[in-house]
Amino acid sequence: MYKPLVFCAAVLISSFAQASTIQQTKGHFEDKFRQLDEALPTPNVYRNAAGEPGHQYWQQKVDYKIKAKLDEKQHRIEASEQIKYTNNSPDTLKYLWLQLDQNKFKSDSMAELSTAFADPARRGPATSAGDANTPAKLSLAELRRQQFMADHELGYEILNLKDSAGNKLHHVVVGTNMRIDLAKPLKPGSSVDFSMNYAFNIIEEDAVSGRSGYEHFPDDAREGGNDIFLLAQWFPRLHAYTDYEAWTNKEFLGRGEFTLEFGDYDVELTVPADHIVAATGELQNAKEVLTKEQQKRLEQAKDTKRPVFIVTEQEALENEKQGTNKQKTWRFKADNVRDFAWGSSRKFMWDAKGYHQGGSVEPLVMAMSFYPKEGGDLWKKYSTEAIVHTLEVYSRFSFDYPYPTSQSVNGPVGGMEYPMITFNGPRTELQDDGSRTYSQSEKRFLIGVVIHEIGHTYFPMIVNSDERQWTWMDEGLNSFLDGVAGREWDPQIPWGVEPRDVVDYMKSSNQVPVMTQSDSVLRLGPNAYTKPAVALNILRETILGRELFDFAFKEYANRWMFKRPTPSDFFRTMEEASGVDLDWFWRGWFYTTDHVDISIDRVYSMRMDTKDPDIDFARERQIEADKPLSLTDERNKNTGLKLWVDKNPDVTDFYDENDRFTVTNKERNAYRKFLKGLKDWERTAFERAIKEDKNYYVLQFSNKGGLVMPIILKLDFADGSTQNMRIPAEIWRRNSEAVSKLIVTDKDKVLTSVEIDPRWETADVDIENNYYPRRIIPSRVEAYKKKKSTSKVSRDIMQDIKTELKSDDEDKDADKE
Ligand SMILES: [Zn+2]
Repeated sequence: MYKPLVFCAAVLISSFAQASTIQQTKGHFEDKFRQLDEALPTPNVYRNAAGEPGHQYWQQKVDYKIKAKLDEKQHRIEASEQIKYTNNSPDTLKYLWLQLDQNKFKSDSMAELSTAFADPARRGPATSAGDANTPAKLSLAELRRQQFMADHELGYEILNLKDSAGNKLHHVVVGTNMRIDLAKPLKPGSSVDFSMNYAFNIIEEDAVSGRSGYEHFPDDAREGGNDIFLLAQWFPRLHAYTDYEAWTNKEFLGRGEFTLEFGDYDVELTVPADHIVAATGELQNAKEVLTKEQQKRLEQAKDTKRPVFIVTEQEALENEKQGTNKQKTWRFKADNVRDFAWGSSRKFMWDAKGYHQGGSVEPLVMAMSFYPKEGGDLWKKYSTEAIVHTLEVYSRFSFDYPYPTSQSVNGPVGGMEYPMITFNGPRTELQDDGSRTYSQSEKRFLIGVVIHEIGHTYFPMIVNSDERQWTWMDEGLNSFLDGVAGREWDPQIPWGVEPRDVVDYMKSSNQVPVMTQSDSVLRLGPNAYTKPAVALNILRETILGRELFDFAFKEYANRWMFKRPTPSDFFRTMEEASGVDLDWFWRGWFYTTDHVDISIDRVYSMRMDTKDPDIDFARERQIEADKPLSLTDERNKNTGLKLWVDKNPDVTDFYDENDRFTVTNKERNAYRKFLKGLKDWERTAFERAIKEDKNYYVLQFSNKGGLVMPIILKLDFADGSTQNMRIPAEIWRRNSEAVSKLIVTDKDKVLTSVEIDPRWETADVDIENNYYPRRIIPSRVEAYKKKKSTSKVSRDIMQDIKTELKSDDEDKDADKE
């Protein structure tokens, strides 16, 4: 456990990489419990040793006023933006850094140029002549992406960048970043206003995939079809300026997401008049954009058991048919948010339901969903209900939801989160009879993704961790909590956060520690989502228990609500608030690629020697007699061979009557002397042990995976009873590779078998070495038929030339059959 005093004295703090290579001792002992303070940054006035914001914690504030116009035909945004930047840091700033996310889609961006070609069939270069003749694989989706990128001019056009006095501001674009040089340095405590015009062509999300974009529906009744527009990363946004990294101006490569400042937004969105708009914040001008009837429904939705339609399916279908040249402006305001996103389409129906969470912050939250007819019953039934369920569970683990709306919007993005608004992809399937159905997995996907993305509106949209650096801090924490919420919805749905869900990944070789910068992570899903989520699941259910974990986790959420935590703030808070030394846990699960594999190698059963020769010698004689007979002696006997001693019975002596277990008075005197030599307390303890004659078992364990964990035991006894035992991970502190444990049971409590981790709580990757004695492994075998080779060489062209050419209709008939 760390103590604040130790931190104050610790002046030289090395990075983890250095710490891990420092020789700890002679020999191969490795201290898996070595304290983490040598790897974590030194606490300071901004972040203290308890993992709390320090007494001089600060963060910047950035307020935005944006007026944007959606050009539906051109798939283009044209906008003006006014920014107020307030410098709360103790530093004077000569320039500001902004994020130009759309520049990632420029053909010469670092993201594009640094994308390596990965042939799914053959990773790496051809290694033999035969290999070179096999075609590499390029997906049609990749070809579509290349074609879209070649056909469209992408990235931001920035114009008219000027300060509040109207003076032009010098700026330099560096990839996805822009530096604005201020006319005069911005002092601590002061703010600066500036503005710009900007425009960009929106990507087609299905072609390019960029967390936002448009989706085209060519089959809609309206000629040419309709689009759904999802807009995110759609305005030049300030980079965060932080106490731990200064400007977080790392190039946007697409993987590591965003880190942003909180601020207030006032946004006017001008879209075709028949569009329905969903956005971060609260709608300010319902009177101008909604019909009287729709406004009434919105009012009704505040108190309703099930979601109420604000825009009905019929209204959405009517909108879908027509199209218009008119425009409307929707105005939204959002206070204290770190970003702003929106969706717009004439295809949207809109349902809503008030969530009365009580409290003083935001007693009524409007849970709302926006979706096209393609969403169907799946969305009508579950989207808004899943929002409310998420708010209920997440708030129990953190704080009251602090915003007036919480929204789920269907579109081309599989799942993405922004303050108060999320994009979620699942849909229904149109059948020949005109009905819409959905598979069970699509249903599970919808419920799961809504819970996950709405969950993100807490982590990282409120607990504002740095996604660009640490994907696990938002995805891992959020996957853990979406698993909690999910299993409170329906445990039959697989939520992917059980320890068993990570074992294949944990034992695989191609991996990096969880504490790896987002863009460098290998296998992001299991690394940044599943593994940390499972780790927290284990921490809650197995290591700390719910009471300690939930208190500490809630403490973390509340300490860092609307603030910017780093990994060390999380590690420190969880440890400081739970009162349990967790350095070994963070070290093992977050800083290494070790896995859990504890084996029970041997169990010894022992009885106490009485030291009384009349008892012990007889016992030893019996043990000797129980040993198997020599094969030679047995065969000699069976062939009727007569032994010399049997053939000459008249020649005998003393040793024919006595063996080495014969007791003499010499031994009896020694026993008496031993008893007399004992002190009173020694004799009492000894005699009681002899009288009780307990069983002494030594269980020998080895740690094959490297990750130290508690040893959870199920002990089975001959009388049919069972005992569970939990040995803390600290048993490994002197030897992390092999340990033994002594277990003492009553005389008639005879141990018959031992099992490690019977409930699969620890993500142990090999359960077969968890049994003592080892069990026969249940498995399966499948009969198979050898397939004929179908290479070009073996084609029977003489026969195939007779094949008739099929028409499209014949194909259709065949498909129906
Ligand atoms: Zn996520």
